[in-house]
Order: sequence, then C-alpha cells, then structure tokens
Amino acid sequence: MQAIDKTTVLIIGGGATGTGLARDLSLRGVPCVLVEKHDLNAGASGGNHGLLHSGARYVASDSEAARECREEGRLLRRMAGHCIEDTGGLFVAVQGDDERYIADFPAMCGQCGIPVEALDPREARGMEPGLAPGTVAAYAVADAVIDPFRLSLQNMADAQRHGARILRYTQVCGFRLGNGQIRSVRLVHAPSGDSVEIEALQVVNATGAWAGGVAALAGIEIPMVYSKGSLLVTQERIARRVINRLRRPTDGDILVPGGTVSILGTTSMRIPCPDGIAPTVQEVDRIIEEGAAMLPVLAATRYIRAYCGVRPLVSLSTACDDRCVSRGFVLIDHAPQGIGNFTTITGGKLTTFRLMAEKTADLVCAKLGVSAPCRTRTEPLPVSAEGHWTEPGIAPKQWLRGHAADDRMLCECEMVPASAVDQILETLREAGAPSSLEALGRRSRIGKGPCQGTFCSLRIAAHLHNRGCYSGGAGAAEIRAFARERWKGLQALLWEMPLVQAELQEALLCGFLGLEAGAPPRKGPPP
Ligand SMILES: Cc1cc2nc3c(=O)[nH]c(=O)nc-3n(C[C@H](O)[C@H](O)[C@H](O)COP(=O)(O)OP(=O)(O)OC[C@H]3O[C@@H](n4cnc5c(N)ncnc54)[C@H](O)[C@@H]3O)c2cc1C
Repeated sequence: MQAIDKTTVLIIGGGATGTGLARDLSLRGVPCVLVEKHDLNAGASGGNHGLLHSGARYVASDSEAARECREEGRLLRRMAGHCIEDTGGLFVAVQGDDERYIADFPAMCGQCGIPVEALDPREARGMEPGLAPGTVAAYAVADAVIDPFRLSLQNMADAQRHGARILRYTQVCGFRLGNGQIRSVRLVHAPSGDSVEIEALQVVNATGAWAGGVAALAGIEIPMVYSKGSLLVTQERIARRVINRLRRPTDGDILVPGGTVSILGTTSMRIPCPDGIAPTVQEVDRIIEEGAAMLPVLAATRYIRAYCGVRPLVSLSTACDDRCVSRGFVLIDHAPQGIGNFTTITGGKLTTFRLMAEKTADLVCAKLGVSAPCRTRTEPLPVSAEGHWTEPGIAPKQWLRGHAADDRMLCECEMVPASAVDQILETLREAGAPSSLEALGRRSRIGKGPCQGTFCSLRIAAHLHNRGCYSGGAGAAEIRAFARERWKGLQALLWEMPLVQAELQEALLCGFLGLEAGAPPRKGPPP
C-alpha cells in the first residue's frame, strides 16, 4: 500500500460521487485522497442503467429530483459530452395504461420545465419500429445515455492530474475519535492485509448504499433503505432511443441503449443488506413480461447477462414502497451529531453525481475555510487515456480501422485485440493498480459478449501470464473469480441459448480445466 499518513480531505468510496468529489476538490486546490475497497465503480455506479435522465421519469413522484436531472443533464452534455450518447428518449403508453397519468404527463413536465413533444403513436412507431402495435400515446423527451465507467475513470484521472491520490482495494475499517473529531482513519489493504492509519482534516463518506455501515463506525446512525434493482442485457441493440413506459415508475419500464446492446430494467426489491446480491429468476421474468408490453420483441430476444445494483435510499419512514422514498440526494453534516469533521453524501442518481459532489465540496470547503469556487460547472472534463477503452460497441470499428497484422484478437465477441489489452495494462501500471482480469473487465468489453468470458478469459489470462503479471496459480484463480462473477449474471437466464452457453462454459472451465469452486488448479496438461 502507498505510504500516505496525512491529507486534507479523505474521501471514502470510488463511485461516481466519490470520484466527482475528488475532481471538484482538487480543481479548487484542496488536497484529497480517495479510498475504495474494490476498484472504481464497484458499487451502484457500475450496476445501473446508464440513463442520463431528462427528469421526466420523476415529474409525478419527485419534482425537485426531476428539475435537478433536467439541469444536470444539460450541463453534463456540455461538460462531459464524450461520456454521453445523445440518443433522445420516448415515453410510450400501451392499451390499459392509466389514462389520467397519460393526460397529465405534459403538464407535469411543463411544471418542472422539462420539454416534451407529443407524437402520433404511428409516428413514434416509425421512429422505433419495435414499439408495440397497441401503443396509444407517445412523447419525445431529452433522455440520453451516459457511460458510468468512462465517467468515473475520467473524473479520477483529472483529479489525479490536479494532485488527488487514490488507494484502491483499501477498505475503511474504523475511526479513531477524540474531542468531537475523527482523529484518524484505519485502512486495510485487501491484497496485502496491511493496515495503516491516515489523518485527515475532513472525512467524507461517499459510500452509497454502504453509507450507513461506514457512519456506524463513527457511532452515527443513518436510516438507510436498500433497494435492489436488476437489469438485463440483450444481445443486440433493440432501439435507437431510450424507451420509457408512460406511467408511474414501476418494474420493467425502461429500455436504454448501450452501444451495440440494450439494457432492460429494472426492479425495486427491499433487501436487508447491500452485499452478496444477484438477479433472481422472478425479477428476470417480471422485467421481460413488463418490457414486452412496450416492445414485444423483448419476449423473444436473447439476453446475454443480468446484473444488479443497490439504490442508496435514505428513509425517514420505513413503511412505504421504496419508489416513494426520495431518489434525491442526502448531504449530512455530522457536526450536530457530535463529529465536526465528518460528512456523508448518499442517495441521488448518476445523473446528479456532479451536483452532489459540488454541494459536498461547498460544505467541506466552508469547514476548511477555503473560498475557491466550484469549477466543474464551467471546466469540461478532459478526455484521457485512463477512460479510453470503456467505449461500448465501438471496438469493432477501431479494430477494422487500425490494427496491425500481428495483433491477436483476445475477445472475439467484442473485438478486443491484444494491443488494446496492453494499452490498458500500461494505464493500470501507471496508476499503480493491479493488472487483473477484473480490472481489465472494468475498462474494456472483455467478457461482456455472448460467450461471457468462456474463451476470452483463458486467452487474456494466458496473455497476462506471458506479460509476467501472474506467478504460481494466480492465473487459474483469476479465471475462476472472473467466471464466478459472470456466472452471477447468467444463472437467472438459463433457457435456450444462454443455457447452452452456460453448459459449454461449465464443460470447458470445470470439466476440461478443473476450475470448479474450491478445487486447487490442476497441475500439468489436462487429461
Ligand atoms: C438498478 C439501478 C439502476 C440505476 N439506474 C440509474 C440510471 O439509469 N440513471 C441514474 O442517473 N442513476 C441510476 N441509478 C442510481 C445510481 O447508480 C446511483 O445513484 C449512483 O451510482 C451512486 O453512486 P455513488 O458513488 O454515490 O455510490 P456507489 O457507486 O455505490 O459507490 C460507493 C463505493 O463505496 C465503496 N465502499 C463502500 N464501503 C467502503 C469502505 N468501507 N471503504 C472503502 N470503500 C467503500 C464501494 O465499494 C463503492 O464502490 C441506478 C441505481 C440502481 C441500483
């Protein structure tokens, strides 16, 4: 672990909020260290739809959140356009949907300043041919798609350029308190097991759904509600635009394009704790059933993966449905609770991450006596090599455009060549991050295609071995961990082609290579 014993601000959590805060503070000239227990975007920031909300989804339930989304969506198009695909979006109703809601929708959008354009349902079907013949109403809105991986990696890279530091795979495990302050923070580096203490003038808890657990380490209670949402990835892109169901938010009512695929979701399931989650068969069935009412092709299409995330919601009442709990963000200054240099930022949305970071930085700077203003409103997020390879679906174009004849293809589903993997390894090395299959998976399309890592994990592990990244049985252990992670997303989709795919993966990884859970890696050539 890097030896850091003091900083001005310690940020806990490397999702969109924490990385956005690191950039905001460092642009104001405030030194900070970000601590993340896994890799960047290991939480909800890596498990969401990637929808840059126009705000229209929230006009009935949370007009403040709707306005925030509208404002931030406009601002991010200017400041981080390279992370956004400006697809536009449709809200569509089908026969049987609430007529009152359909009739009130334009006026509710108007009250929140959100532009909508009424479309004739036939016109909408002309724009998106997959829409159901029974579409009875359609409106166009300014929804877009945002790549959360690119966003966090670019934010952190720019923060580092301005002096911020990052400790990955390092968990905050405790606080030493004294005189109404956090005196030091105890960190444990997972790969080595090393433990250190770091002193900071201010500590920010940006741990999303884990905010309650981290605050509890300081003896503070935050009433968190954990709402799991699951999402399905289709093999092909089903629609050009974001398609929303024109009704109060519920399950299976959004389809978001993501490069060459589409992402269908989501659900809202109360869970007791944010760890160890996976999509269930019941959620998958419900999402497909509801989604197919908008776009019938969703009942027959091939799904290649399911994944999920936990919404960090703060509730003052635990009695109502989770969709009643505000999706707006919560900024808590813990000074009135007796800890003067501790702040929590949680809740909110990916769309509002920058605003959340700005408000948090304003509070922290006020406590530090720093008057420098926020610059993320006016200074575009630069493009950097660190976020380069997270572009969904454009890999084939890049490959055809400029590959060298001796550049081997390591991931055939998503066209990721050895040169691209080497480029990521280089940036990982420069950032002091481990060169693992998992880290490559977060920064590229490897393992995300129909084979779900069956073939590419082996080729890439061999490539990493040849590059001297592994010693002993580390490569086999990594393939097993990678396959286990992909399996979480396959196990609720076991019918037709995904079932065949899973059988093939099991035969290859377990039967042929002996990588079943718990088994030591087989020595020597396979039988
Ligand atoms: C299913 C689903 C779909 C969504 N879809 C959208 C969408 O389409 N558009 C949108 O705008 N929003 C969406 N959201 C909301 C959005 O994803 C979240 O609001 C946002 O990503 C939260 O970011 P965060 O950085 O606050 O938290 P997170 O991304 O959860 O980051 C918290 C980080 O803290 C780390 N951490 C936790 N404990 C510790 C510790 N002790 N020490 C060190 N690190 C720690 C975690 O590993 C994690 O990386 C969705 C959410 C879900 C669940």
